[in-house]
Amino acid sequence: FILYRLQPQVKQLDGARVGLMALTSAVDEVISLLDCSDKPYIRSGSIRFPSLTQGICLKSVDFYYNPDEKPALEDMSLSIPACKTTAIVGPSGAGKSTLIGLICRFYDATSGEIYVDDYPIQELKLDDWRHQIAIVSQDVHMFSTTVLENIAYGRLDATEKEIIAAAKLANAHNFITQLPQGYDTKVGDRGIRLSGGQKQRIALARAIVRDPQILILDEATNALDSISEHLIQEALNTLSQNRTVIVIAHRLSTIEQADQIIVLNEGRVTEQGNLKQLLKLNGLFARLYNLQHRNVHN
Ligand code: ATP
Repeated sequence: FILYRLQPQVKQLDGARVGLMALTSAVDEVISLLDCSDKPYIRSGSIRFPSLTQGICLKSVDFYYNPDEKPALEDMSLSIPACKTTAIVGPSGAGKSTLIGLICRFYDATSGEIYVDDYPIQELKLDDWRHQIAIVSQDVHMFSTTVLENIAYGRLDATEKEIIAAAKLANAHNFITQLPQGYDTKVGDRGIRLSGGQKQRIALARAIVRDPQILILDEATNALDSISEHLIQEALNTLSQNRTVIVIAHRLSTIEQADQIIVLNEGRVTEQGNLKQLLKLNGLFARLYNLQHRNVHN
């Protein structure tokens, strides 16, 4: 009788058991998909990384997205010195973003070596290494919340004082204080619209609040208003004093002020040096530079 009374519950339990079994097999499937012991993936090394003192060095690096296609980077050797600003320039498809992807260890080189100071990059603890890097990308995402929280997104435990200090370094503080509710002004889809230059400076502040040793900037290709451009350049000049800055550069002003310029073309380094040296070479860089210079001054 009791069993009879309990039948519906037992049925329910059984249904749950069947459900659980189905779930277990789905979990097994996911685990087998995740088990990529025979596939290449990014493994963390074990070396704790305190600070970049010499720089990042690529030695004969090849990188293929697809083994059947031509390499995105080919026999690439270059060095990015610590605490200097390096501009990476080159036409579309030259390999600029791929190079950044390798430095951030989104991918590993197919062959060749990348050294961070004296360590092969893959021997560093991945979290540690990525923690040192902040990237400001071209298309800045603004969350539908306050300016303060948009900057704090860079480091969730940042204090208000630290956020304001970062905004000042990014040359964003003045425009923020002129917004209707200052740092508490809502931005994003449900807030006020910011200009491209203002968004870039918020993104810069978001990166600075993390106090990264390496700042990577993918400069916007679309023109910013000249005031924003000047303010961003000024912020970068301050930031680069004690940081390694790598810029995928499109603007003449950035290129002109970089300590070194690396020119990429079709996955190879074609020229490397400072502005004076590269203009003297009279190669691809000089051609691109003169063309852009003429466009700016006409
Ligand atoms: P852009 O200035 O247009 O952003 P880029 O210099 O950053 O170009 P990369 O994006 O690094 O160039 O691309 C280098 C080469 O690798 C190109 O031939 C590109 O088509 C190819 N490539 C880039 N990303 C991938 C991908 N995810 N899968 C396959 N090929 C890719």
